[in-house]
Order: sequence, then C-alpha cells, then structure tokens
Amino acid sequence: MFDQESVLRRFAQVVEDAHGELTRLDQRSGDGDFGDNLRGGVREAVARFDAGGSSAFGALGEVFLDEVGGTSGPLLGLLFTELAHALDREAEPVAAFRAGAAAGLAAIQRVGEAQVGDRTLVDALAPAVEALESGGFATAAKAAAEGAARTGELRARMGRASYVGERVKGEPDPGAVGIALLFWAVATVAE
Ligand code: ADP
Ligand code: MG
Ligand code: MG
Repeated sequence: MFDQESVLRRFAQVVEDAHGELTRLDQRSGDGDFGDNLRGGVREAVARFDAGGSSAFGALGEVFLDEVGGTSGPLLGLLFTELAHALDREAEPVAAFRAGAAAGLAAIQRVGEAQVGDRTLVDALAPAVEALESGGFATAAKAAAEGAARTGELRARMGRASYVGERVKGEPDPGAVGIALLFWAVATVAE
C-alpha cells in the first residue's frame, strides 16, 4: 500500500543514514553542503507534515522551495511540488508518480538547463521518469540508482562541480544519489 506519509518517513530515514556519504560526495565535487541541505529540508518537511495542513509531498515541496538553500533546494522543491500536485489529482500512485516526476523533470530542466550527461540530479531523474512509462516503482528505483552510478564517469558541466574537473572521476554526483534515495524509499514502501 502506497501512502505519502510512509514514503516521507522512509525517505527521512534513508537521508539520515546517507548524510555522511552525501556530504563526502559534495566535498569531492562541490562545497560539501548537499548532505546538510537535503537532511535539513527533509527534517523540516517532517515537522511541517506533523504540524498538519500539508500532504507529505506538499510539505517537502513547500520547505524545499522556500527554505532550503543550495542549487538543489529549489530544484528539488519543483520536483516535490509537482509530485504533490499529481498525487492530489491521481488516485493510482504509479500514474501519479509518472506524471509528477515528468513534470518535475521538465521544470528542473527549464530552470537549471541541465541535460542528461551533465553530471547532475537529472542523470538519475530522467531514467527514473522513463522507467515509469512502462514499469513500476522497483524498475524506476533501479533506473535512478543506475543513472546515479553512471554520473561517476561523467565530467560536470553545470553547477559547482564543473570547476573541479577530473577530481571527481569515479565518484557519483551527490544530487543524483539523492534522487536515487527518493525512488528507493518509494519502491521499498510501495512494493
Ligand atoms: P550548491 O552547489 O549550491 O552547494 P547543493 O550542494 O545543494 O548546491 O546541490 C548540488 C547538486 O545540485 C549537484 O550534486 C547536482 O545534482 C545539482 N545541480 C547542480 N546544478 C544543477 C542544474 N543546473 N540542474 C540540475 N541539478 C543541478
Ligand atoms: Mg553543495
Ligand atoms: Mg552550497
């Protein structure tokens, strides 16, 4: 059974567990704050959800758009907001995620202008969106994880990581790993 609250709580748990690794990855390729940005936002979203008045993804969207810094904050806010809208509209969870994640990806690319292969979170989100066209959450989680892993072979053209060049070879992009964690949380709760 899919329910947003369980996904939020599972995501919060995996983000807590991954905080150190996400920090390490962003120290390699950026300024080291991605773990704090993601964990801080998710903690705040849980608090907002618990206070009442917002759906789980609604709370994520509001917090990441309004309060989370870094390049990733507002971009993830767009994704969470589109997912929240789609989950409100659409009863079937895979269909809702298919629509919401596709709209979120489009918004992220409109604002951030990253293409697949630029070594950003788009490299995990785009394959997950594509996987949802014909598969379920487990397929999407696998596609996101594989997309995130492939960023280890990519040189960044966007964001801070573009300044560090070859230094990040072999290490995945932290934002892409964050997206893989989201889809992993969804898949483990929903299936
Ligand atoms: P900052 O570089 O401002 O500290 P964060 O550490 O919060 O930002 O987020 C870094 C992540 O943001 C990267 O790992 C990458 O996935 C993502 N990112 C950076 N630029 C873009 C972009 N133009 N489009 C999509 N994602 C991006
Ligand atoms: Mg950073
Ligand atoms: Mg920063």
